[in-house]
Amino acid sequence: MGLFAAILMVILPVAGLRASVHDYQVSISADLRTVDVTARLDDADLRLRAPSGRVERLGSMQGCDGATVDTSGRTLRVRGGCLQYTTSLEPFRRSRSYGKQSPRFAGHESWLWLPPLRTADVVRLTLQLPKGVTAVVPWRSTGPGRFELQQSPGSGEAIAWFGRVEQDTLVVQGAPLSLALIDGSGGMRLNRFVIKPWLEEAAGLVATVGGTFPNRFAQVMVEPGEASLFGDSPVPFGHVIRSGEEVVRFFVQPGATGKALREDWTAVHEFAHLLLPYVREDQKWISEGFASYYQNVLLARGGIYSEKEAWQRLTRAFQSAAQGSHPPSPNDAHMRSFWEVRMLIYWSGAAIALMGDVELRRLSKGRESLDTVLGRLATCCLPSPDVWEGKELFRRLDTLSGIAVFVPLYDKYANTPGMPDTRQLLQDLGIMASRKGIVIDSTAPFATHRAAIMRRLPRAAK
Ligand SMILES: [Zn+2]
Repeated sequence: MGLFAAILMVILPVAGLRASVHDYQVSISADLRTVDVTARLDDADLRLRAPSGRVERLGSMQGCDGATVDTSGRTLRVRGGCLQYTTSLEPFRRSRSYGKQSPRFAGHESWLWLPPLRTADVVRLTLQLPKGVTAVVPWRSTGPGRFELQQSPGSGEAIAWFGRVEQDTLVVQGAPLSLALIDGSGGMRLNRFVIKPWLEEAAGLVATVGGTFPNRFAQVMVEPGEASLFGDSPVPFGHVIRSGEEVVRFFVQPGATGKALREDWTAVHEFAHLLLPYVREDQKWISEGFASYYQNVLLARGGIYSEKEAWQRLTRAFQSAAQGSHPPSPNDAHMRSFWEVRMLIYWSGAAIALMGDVELRRLSKGRESLDTVLGRLATCCLPSPDVWEGKELFRRLDTLSGIAVFVPLYDKYANTPGMPDTRQLLQDLGIMASRKGIVIDSTAPFATHRAAIMRRLPRAAK
């Protein structure tokens, strides 16, 4: 970013520019292959972009209500505030071998041309669908066929699905969360009576961290997937997309039993990502680390792992992430190949989450914990439209607890090569290595904190 642009970004919000409200009418054709868009823009001169869209793929494109449109490079410059275009609904760009996508399944970034959005700007969308077709879109629903889209971190490619969708609601700590079950290729379908209780329990466990689920507008999408690429897990793949509204997306083996799904950590891990705002791509160790910590803690609290199993999984992962010579620091891990440093990326942040959690409990005599701080973070700041810097997030966590814990951990470990050394901490918690794994020593100095971290929830909390 140039200096001028940087200065403008600081000045504009201070100058109190009013928020823009843009109106879009989106109409999907009966064969689900094309989309017509009429955009009524709130500013007289705007440059529109679609991150993976191409100007030359626009079937027809013109100004409306007297407006003019020029194309330059990958932007459409609209003068006069009105644009109409027709374009193809292209298949999702990064398709996977499982969950094969048809043309109905289109990342909206290839066809939704948008102006730059500042914090309070809103795009209001009206969606017209052919009869019998349902849609799953990464926009916030404001009524039948009506949606709003605002600035978001833009991580991952937003997904818009038009076709056969089974929609339902997950009830998470009494609040609804929308669920979409999508058919796979060859008529592969999922059993909602198996999927729903599994996801309700996993999201419910994440909601117990701060008392409510961190984003009640999140959309949960589930598609059938085969366990070809990532081993034989009942949930071959899951991820969070933060482009438009937050989407938590899972691929599930159609034959997976409720028991196998419940014992799998993927759902708790993915939902736990929503406990933090989106942190910069090159600091993935923070989001992956906190989610990896909580996947173990919450499965123990939910009674799916025993306390011992959860600690055993954490200690094994810490040990395995500490193997290897010449490791990078967590902040530099992004410069290596992902497969070489993936254990460090996932578990350095988990070690820091554990260190911070114990330190908060210790210094506050059990009144504060990572749970209480993340609960406050959700209240003040989530879901966040911004991309956060790691240290900024740690600073915020310390402000929210009033205890300087996370910034000192960041300063000590973020730029230090290798895994944070957890050996002394584990010993103080009473987690001792043995030939068969670990043994737990209840007389250790931090034994009460160890027990509190993994304490079973009453069943009603689910
Ligand atoms: Zn993750």
